[in-house]
Amino acid sequence: MVRLCRYVTARMEVVIVKIISRDSWGAKPNKTKFSKLGEVKGLVVHWSAYPVAIGNQAEIDQCKKIQRLHQEDRGWNDVAYNFLVGDTGQIYEGRGFGNRSAAQGGNSRQEINYNNKHYVAVCWLGGSKPEDQPSAEARAAISWLYEQVGGELRPHSSFKQTDCPGDAWRQWIIEKKTATIDELKKATNITAEDLSNASGPEMVHPHFIQKKLDIIIAKLENIENKLKLGRIIQ
Ligand SMILES: [Zn+2]
Repeated sequence: MVRLCRYVTARMEVVIVKIISRDSWGAKPNKTKFSKLGEVKGLVVHWSAYPVAIGNQAEIDQCKKIQRLHQEDRGWNDVAYNFLVGDTGQIYEGRGFGNRSAAQGGNSRQEINYNNKHYVAVCWLGGSKPEDQPSAEARAAISWLYEQVGGELRPHSSFKQTDCPGDAWRQWIIEKKTATIDELKKATNITAEDLSNASGPEMVHPHFIQKKLDIIIAKLENIENKLKLGRIIQ
């Protein structure tokens, strides 16, 4: 069953999305209370390193398998990730927004604490082979999550020596960075026409001036939104 989740994101916006809630995918409860995230600095992409889950049931089974691994074999509080995403494009709630993950790792205890306190973790349900490719739906779901989280977009391998999340995701992050820079360039391109002083009676007409202002305000809002997304780290 899909339950609509209401979240207040890091940017204090309320969003309602089709995220499969913990109850809906049959997650076990967390053993102890979650620690809260600190100031959010971005989203980190992981892979599960299991064979790619095909279809909703296989995705749910894999979420459960990862939770078992983390809670039973590793003795952790809960599944390490804030969210898990399958090739169907479905997002499964792990620790959710606002709670600290246990996925990021680092080269020292201090680094690990910092990385988990400040970064949201999402895990793609695949990656047993280096050549595994995430679906367009999985990419779109992670894009959406990134828009909610803001800040930096990073692969796990940017924190420590690891293959996670694989070359396909690393390449995707690089491409996303290029696209964001291009969009930013386009957004900042206020043309001479936008600002021109047309001659004739329409130039002093309030509607004409309002229209020009609307165009410029829309462009500025677009720039502001792009800047909110911030840096993408490869
Ligand atoms: Zn990872």
